[in-house]
Amino acid sequence: MDEIFEKLSKYGLTEMDKPLSSMTTLRIGGNARYIVYPKSDVALDFIFRLIQEYDLQYKVIGKGSDLLCSDDYFDGVIIRLDKYFLDTYIDEDEIVVQAGCSIISLAVEAMKKGLSGLEFASGIPGTVGGAIFMNAGAYKSSMSEIVKDVFVYRNGKFEWISVDECEFGYRKSIFQKNRDWIILGARLQMTLSDTKSISKVMEERRQRRVNSQPLDYPSCGSVFRNPENYNAWELIDGIGYRGKRHGGAMVSEKHCNFILNYDNASAQEYLELVNEIKDKVKEKYDVELKTEMEMFNWK
Ligand SMILES: Cc1cc2nc3c(=O)[nH]c(=O)nc-3n(C[C@H](O)[C@H](O)[C@H](O)COP(=O)(O)OP(=O)(O)OC[C@H]3O[C@@H](n4cnc5c(N)ncnc54)[C@H](O)[C@@H]3O)c2cc1C
Repeated sequence: MDEIFEKLSKYGLTEMDKPLSSMTTLRIGGNARYIVYPKSDVALDFIFRLIQEYDLQYKVIGKGSDLLCSDDYFDGVIIRLDKYFLDTYIDEDEIVVQAGCSIISLAVEAMKKGLSGLEFASGIPGTVGGAIFMNAGAYKSSMSEIVKDVFVYRNGKFEWISVDECEFGYRKSIFQKNRDWIILGARLQMTLSDTKSISKVMEERRQRRVNSQPLDYPSCGSVFRNPENYNAWELIDGIGYRGKRHGGAMVSEKHCNFILNYDNASAQEYLELVNEIKDKVKEKYDVELKTEMEMFNWK
C-alpha cells in the first residue's frame, strides 16, 4: 500500500490516480496522483503537515469549472472541499458558509429564505471558494459586493480576513497572488427581500443563460476576459471563428467566447485553438486577449 495514500486517508476520503477530466467541467485533464477530501479544518491542517513532510505539490480545486488542465500526470495532491465543507448558517440577513458549498445551491437556499444578493450566481457552476478566488460575477454583480469577510488558512493558521484585504477587482482577488492561502468559508451580507421576487429574477437569468450559452457541451464558461472597450465574443466573431473547430475543440456557434470540448478534445488541441484566437485577434484588432480560465499543470 502507498504510504502517503494511507496517511492522507486518515484525514479525509482519499483517492489515487484519478483523471482531472472527471473533476473539471471541461472534461479535460490527465491523472492526479492523490485526491483528498479533508473531513474538517483540523484534518486539513494535518494534511498540510503531510504535504510539507513529504514535500508534495498540491492544488485546491472547487468544481473545476474554470480550469484547463493539461493531459500530463499531476504528481501531487488535489484537495477538494466540496464533500465535507458544505455547512451554511443563516442569521437574519447574514450567511456564513463553508467554501465547498456549491454557489448555485447557496443561491437557491438564500432565495428560499427571502435573502437577496446571490441572484447573479444562480448559473455559475462553482463552489463558494472558487467564486471568491475568481470574484465570480454576472449581470454587473459579483461576489465582492456581498462578501464581508473570508475564513482563510494561511501560513499554518486559521484567520478571518476582511473584504478590504481581499483586493477584489474584475475577476480578481488577493488569493490569485497568494496561491498557498486556502479559502475555507465566508460571511456574506445579504438583503432581506421576498422569495417570489428573487425567484423571478433567478428564473429570468436562468432563461437568459439557456438562450445564450451552449450548456449542452463541456466547457469552462467564458474563455477570455473582456478587454477594455470590447466584448471578447465580438472580437472572436470578427475574426470569423464562430463555429471554428480544431481537433475535438470548437468555438461555440451560440456564444463565441465559449470554447467547447466538442468531441474528446485533448488539452493540447484546446490550447492551440485558444492561442490561434489570441494571435488572430492581435493581428486584426491589436488587442491582447487574456484568458479568464486558469491553466493548470502545464510545463
Ligand atoms: C457553463 C459555465 C458558466 C460560467 N459562468 C460564469 C459566470 O457567469 N461568471 C463567472 O465569473 N464565472 C463563470 N464561470 C466560471 C466558473 O464557474 C467560476 O469562475 C467559478 O467561480 C469557479 O469556481 P470553482 O469552484 O469551479 O473553481 P475551480 O475552477 O475549481 O478553481 C478555480 C481557481 O480557484 C482556486 N480555488 C478554488 N477553491 C479554492 C479555495 N477553497 N481556496 C483557494 N483557492 C481556491 C483554484 O485553485 C483555482 O485556481 C462559468 C463556468 C461554466 C462552466
